Amino acid sequence: MGETMRKLGPGRLIIASHNDGKVSEINDLLSPLGIEAVSAKKIGLSDPEETGTTFAENAELKALAAATASGLPALADDSGLSVTALSGAPGIFSARWAGEPRDFRAAMKKVESALFDSGTEDFSAKFICALCLAWPDGHTEIFEGEVKGVLVFPPRGEKGFGYDPIFVPEGYHMTFAEMDPEEKHAISHRADAFRKLMKAHF
Ligand code: IMP
Repeated sequence: MGETMRKLGPGRLIIASHNDGKVSEINDLLSPLGIEAVSAKKIGLSDPEETGTTFAENAELKALAAATASGLPALADDSGLSVTALSGAPGIFSARWAGEPRDFRAAMKKVESALFDSGTEDFSAKFICALCLAWPDGHTEIFEGEVKGVLVFPPRGEKGFGYDPIFVPEGYHMTFAEMDPEEKHAISHRADAFRKLMKAHF
């Protein structure tokens, strides 16, 4: 992490993600500020291996790889589900718990079995998102967001993605997968991290 804050100026920002949905969501947020979000895929960059041990480390290595390869500032996001009674698992392995090709029904079943096997009555969990802004000279800034909630079984709802059908955010009765996207996006871990980034830069 660089010791001083640096302002993000107008121009192109590389989004170090191959997920088109994520890139267009970020573009919607940034285009009113004169920033054009360009996906790493569009300029032919490949994703580095996620070898970090925290969300922040993984976001940083993705953002730095994109910034140094492109010569432009880059933004990366790393996120996942952290279950209290499972010591934070699946955590940074959230996508990997779904196997290859991704099967989140199976991943949610794995969470359910691990919880029931542990004998716990604590079904609390949170989604965590780390955003990293990186510049080609190696300066980086991290913004972390989270949303707390409880897990419910069986999964409910068809919207959203990943672990959304088993996650009920604090103060709500619906799972993320039962909510309209706008409602989820207003309270999500990603929204929380983005608010911190916006506050620091705009
Ligand atoms: P990443 O793209 O490597 O950061 O992996 C993130 C993984 O965490 C996704 O594949 C999902 O499994 C999970 N995840 C992150 N954010 C959400 C969310 O908002 N809802 C449901 N699952 C999420």
